[in-house]
Amino acid sequence: MHITSAETWVEQVREVGLRATPGRIAALRFLAEHPHSTAAEVHAGISDDLPSVSMQSVHNVVNDLSARGVLRRIDMPGTGGARYETRTADNHHHMQCVICGRIEDVECVVGHAPCLTPSQTHGMHTVLSADVTFRAVCTDCAERTEQAALAHAAGRGADAGEPRAADALPEQSTPASAVPPAPTTRSSPRIPHNSEASTGGTHG
Ligand SMILES: [Zn+2]
Ligand SMILES: [Zn+2]
Repeated sequence: MHITSAETWVEQVREVGLRATPGRIAALRFLAEHPHSTAAEVHAGISDDLPSVSMQSVHNVVNDLSARGVLRRIDMPGTGGARYETRTADNHHHMQCVICGRIEDVECVVGHAPCLTPSQTHGMHTVLSADVTFRAVCTDCAERTEQAALAHAAGRGADAGEPRAADALPEQSTPASAVPPAPTTRSSPRIPHNSEASTGGTHG
């Protein structure tokens, strides 16, 4: 993934006739590093640096930027809520793990919309686009499921002191919020203790 500098985002925002407010730039930078995030995830991600930016204004930011093509809005089936990404105008598609919710980009072979021709047009004048979502099971989830099945088959005899494998299966479809420790380029080295505590919701 290429890193786009803040200056580039400032230019892009101004090019579409918007002011390059700190909230807009922060949202773009966050989404460049965490594509396919929801507005709530963007808000959580930027509120450390911009505590005054409200959830409502993040909604406004992603709506405005999507409307002007700086962001692309995607709606993944069954995940509830729109997601946003800075990769626009290449008509790429998405593949999502149905268990953990992880979303990955899939290149469009054609590269522009519409990349599929419907078998019937039903009298529609123009086909604008075809949104393809590949539903999948990721390798991690497949392995977890396999282990759980094996543990189940082995019955309760296996006394390995491990917690029951079923506990390891994620029940909710919370996307494994890819939150790698943010590369801090600040001078003051922060102690990285639970900086995501407010967003996590990891119970025991
Ligand atoms: Zn998965
Ligand atoms: Zn994408």
